[in-house]
Amino acid sequence: MAKDLEQPVVNALNQNYVKERKLNFLERIYLPEIFRGLWYTLKQMFQPKFTMMYPEEKWDPPAIFRGRPVLVEDNGKERCVACGLCARACPPLAISMQASENSDDPKERYPTFFEINMLRCIYCGFCEEVCPEEAIVMSKDYDLVFKSRGEAIYDKEKLLVPKEDLKDRLEFLRDYRNRQFGQFWNFPEENNIHSVRNRDSKWDTSLSLVEMLEAQRKEDSSSAS
Ligand code: SF4
Ligand code: SF4
Repeated sequence: MAKDLEQPVVNALNQNYVKERKLNFLERIYLPEIFRGLWYTLKQMFQPKFTMMYPEEKWDPPAIFRGRPVLVEDNGKERCVACGLCARACPPLAISMQASENSDDPKERYPTFFEINMLRCIYCGFCEEVCPEEAIVMSKDYDLVFKSRGEAIYDKEKLLVPKEDLKDRLEFLRDYRNRQFGQFWNFPEENNIHSVRNRDSKWDTSLSLVEMLEAQRKEDSSSAS
C-alpha cells in the first residue's frame, strides 16, 4: 500500500502529544535548575583533585589495565611458538608472523618475524585470551607515539618484554584464569614447552589433556631422578 506522504510522521513536536508532561511555573522559568547546576559546580571545586600533570606525572595503571600487547620474553627468548592463534583471533588483522622450527630447542617452533600494526590494534585483548603459551599479554604501556605509519609497525624487537617486567599482568591473568578453570590453568612454566615429538604414540590414550600433562610430568620427574 502506498504511503500517504502528505501525512506528517507522528511525534511529540508536530502533535499535541497527550502524554507530554506539563512543566510547572518554576520549571518553565529554568532558574532553579540553573542555580542547581551552579551549586553542583561550586561543590566540586572543593573535592579532592584527581587530575595528573601528564606527561611530567605518569599514571601507573592497575594490573587489569589493557595497554599495548607485548610478547613475553622468557630466559632471553620469546615464549611464542608461532601457532598463529592470536593472528586468527585479532579482529582488525593487526598481527602477522612467520613460523620456523629449531629441532635443537625443546620449544621447537618460534616466529622468525612477529609484527603488530599498532595503528590497527584496538586493545581488545583477544590475542592474550587465545594464546596457549601466555606468550602475548596486554602491558601497562599506553604512551604510544609514531611519526610515520612505518614506525607504528612493532616488530619482535619492540614487542619483546622480559617476563619480570610483566609480573603484575601475569599474576592477574593467573588469578583470573584459575577462577574460571579451577586448577586447569595453573600455568607452570614448563607448560611453555609443548613438544609433540614423543607424544604421537600416546595420543590415543583417551586421557584428557590435563591427565596427559600430569603423566608427562611424572615421567619427566622419574627419568630425572
Ligand atoms: S589487542 Fe586485539 S586488536 Fe590488538 S593485537 Fe591483540 S587481538 Fe589484535
Ligand atoms: S597465540 Fe601465542 S604462541 Fe600462538 S602465535 Fe600468538 S603469541 Fe605466539
